[in-house]
Amino acid sequence: MTAAELNDDRAIIRTKELALNELPIGRSHLMVEMVHNALGLPISVPVIVMRGSRPGPVLGLTSALHGNELNGISVVHRLFSQLDPHKLRGTVVAVVVVNVPGYLAHRRHYLEGIDLNHIMPGDPHGNAPQIYAHRLVERFLDKFDFLVDLHTASVGRVNSLYVRSDMTAAIPAAMAYRQRPEIIVHNPPADRTLRGTAMEHDIPAITVEIGNPQQFQPKYIKSTLSGLRGVLAEAGLLSSRSAAPSGPEPTICSRSYWMYTDHGGLLEVLPALGALVKAGEPIARLTNAFGRVTRNYVAPEDAIIVGKSVDPVAETGGRIAHLGIVATEGSFIKRSTLSAVPAITAPVLGQDE
Ligand SMILES: [Zn+2]
Repeated sequence: MTAAELNDDRAIIRTKELALNELPIGRSHLMVEMVHNALGLPISVPVIVMRGSRPGPVLGLTSALHGNELNGISVVHRLFSQLDPHKLRGTVVAVVVVNVPGYLAHRRHYLEGIDLNHIMPGDPHGNAPQIYAHRLVERFLDKFDFLVDLHTASVGRVNSLYVRSDMTAAIPAAMAYRQRPEIIVHNPPADRTLRGTAMEHDIPAITVEIGNPQQFQPKYIKSTLSGLRGVLAEAGLLSSRSAAPSGPEPTICSRSYWMYTDHGGLLEVLPALGALVKAGEPIARLTNAFGRVTRNYVAPEDAIIVGKSVDPVAETGGRIAHLGIVATEGSFIKRSTLSAVPAITAPVLGQDE
């Protein structure tokens, strides 16, 4: 035997209900039952809770809502290894693997073709993924005062470290700045996503896109972790002293969109992630199976490369690059304005829209 077996001696609480008030101060590990498979066996999600010794808001973290988006899991594990309940005001709840069937199958979707982040808030009387989505909202989301939803790019693409947030809403904007990613994309919360459902339920929420799928990327994990400590401070769970911002200020984009191919072939995307491109600058070229260049794509306007395709196999309508349009001065809530806002004490409802 070449593996050294290490036992996790912490008891795992098996439950159908996340009863935060019944948990002790400190760290708890839970398996929360969601649905049953066709053998009648439970499908449960792993949850870590850290209850602080002083009362305060509940901040929820969700990772692997898309089952192959894993960097967030490592961020969660590292965050909890750093949290001291005696320095924590309130409770941090991490749903470590939101989409268990997708995670087990190394796949983004819950079932083939069913994206959980397109069917929120689900339906208690619907089909299997709709029931699962409904229970995610009922058993977890509605217990949170804040939400940070951790994602990555999809298969065949790579992402910078970026945040999607409604930058016209004070609290999500403050959370986005404190998260301090490379890029912030202003993105009003979309219907049927977990973030959109959170915002509809008056739970300020941001989405953090952490690099690439199906891997752990230490550099992005480390900077997401330090940003997350900042979000905890912004939300009043940690003292500001314990969460000094690091790294450069993010680039703020007022909008973003994907460029697609208009023909099939072998795709090569030219600029690096995070590169600033000028209107007319080459973005990509498409080559046919015989090695001839058939298309050259250029930037339609000045933009920053938020994400891009790395899979050369492109059909007509294949994704090329995710272009962020850098915001002009004054279009959003500025960091300097927010620093004048006292530390947020949750739940602060109705102030963010
Ligand atoms: Zn995702």
